[in-house]
Amino acid sequence: MEFGRTEEQRLLLGAVQEFIRKIVVPRAAGRDVSAEFPEEELRAAAELGLMGMAVPETHGGADLDPVSTALVYEEIARGSGALAVILSVHNSLVCEAIRRYGTEEQQDRYLPPLASGNLLGAYALTESGAGSDAAALQTRARRNGDVYLLSGSKLFITSAEHADLFVVFAVTDPEARRSRAITAFLVERDLPGFTIGKKERKLGLRSSEINEISFADVRVPTGCRLGDEGYGFPMALALLDTGRIGIAAQAVGMAQAALDLSLVYAQQRHQFGRPIADLQAIQWMLADMATRLEAARLLTYRAAALKRDGDPFGLAASQAKLFASRSAVEAADAAIQIHGGYGYLEEYGAERLYRDAKATELYEGTSEIQRLVIARHLLRGTSTPAS
Ligand SMILES: Cc1cc2nc3c(=O)[nH]c(=O)nc-3n(C[C@H](O)[C@H](O)[C@H](O)COP(=O)(O)OP(=O)(O)OC[C@H]3O[C@@H](n4cnc5c(N)ncnc54)[C@H](O)[C@@H]3O)c2cc1C
Repeated sequence: MEFGRTEEQRLLLGAVQEFIRKIVVPRAAGRDVSAEFPEEELRAAAELGLMGMAVPETHGGADLDPVSTALVYEEIARGSGALAVILSVHNSLVCEAIRRYGTEEQQDRYLPPLASGNLLGAYALTESGAGSDAAALQTRARRNGDVYLLSGSKLFITSAEHADLFVVFAVTDPEARRSRAITAFLVERDLPGFTIGKKERKLGLRSSEINEISFADVRVPTGCRLGDEGYGFPMALALLDTGRIGIAAQAVGMAQAALDLSLVYAQQRHQFGRPIADLQAIQWMLADMATRLEAARLLTYRAAALKRDGDPFGLAASQAKLFASRSAVEAADAAIQIHGGYGYLEEYGAERLYRDAKATELYEGTSEIQRLVIARHLLRGTSTPAS
């Protein structure tokens, strides 16, 4: 497995780093305070091709391989976790879903505007009674001639207020076994009966918004069904395997940001007549942060490389997400500790990382669910087929 950066990746990262330095970082702290959606950053991201990372060039996308995609998420999250999660849902869950499961007509209709940033995507799986147990969802889609009538509601939907196209999972056959009861749909936001509900106030990632959404007999044309009837649940799980590599990369970027802040601060801050970086207690924290960070990075690149090479990657993706998300939380915690009381202040950035990093242990499967997935792979003795 090759992790050395190709010339193409070096050029891509150079452009992404400039975008982060000039456009993202100067706004990130302010956006966190105002909880304002990063419209300008998304427009600039679209110009760089970052809204079409999973979209083939034939449909106007950048068609990045999974390792390059992970490198990009890492850089973005280093500047803004909130922007990283918006782009991750749009690329790894929505564009990827249409690229992998969409009909030619669906791909022609949606991929070019998604890749150009004219459309923003959202992914609607979670419900009040269906979180970790996603197959317990209650949203219903009843076939009625050439439409499905969609009814129910979803929670925690990232970007819902700004998104144009939603990948929605709903029960089409309540009598079928759970894994065959659910179907995926592409739902446009302006359909009558589709409403965007309350925006949640949350701990971190504040400029990425999450809302409740609901459907009251929304008429979704049969042509907007994504994949076959009854195949929505395996599709959701396979998409989450890919998404988890992105979340792991996001966590790596946040852990790197925590280390960056800490290295600078530890050398600037003097106590007892010398920089605190001279103190062994601080050096140990820095050493542990850097070592865990590299381990998380390697696990993430490994999962991405397995996917790139067409090998089974579900186990590796869960391991990377489990380890990288904990590493990010611990790195942000250490960053606050190294900053002392200043770490607790908004101005120094470490507390934002701490609040943002926590989400990586929750979404796209909590850490407990990652352990469950990992244990199942181990006990089965095999990995899931490449998906
Ligand atoms: C910022 C943010 C953005 C999100 N964006 C989206 C989005 O865009 N689209 C979307 O569909 N969802 C989204 N989610 C929802 C997210 O995926 C769920 O919150 C997550 O899957 C956990 O579900 P839950 O919150 O219902 O927790 P629960 O499933 O109720 O879990 C509660 C606790 O029980 C544990 N637990 C549950 N089952 C088991 C088990 N079998 N074994 C061991 N422990 C278990 C969990 O790990 C957790 O600790 C988002 C969430 C957040 C926080």
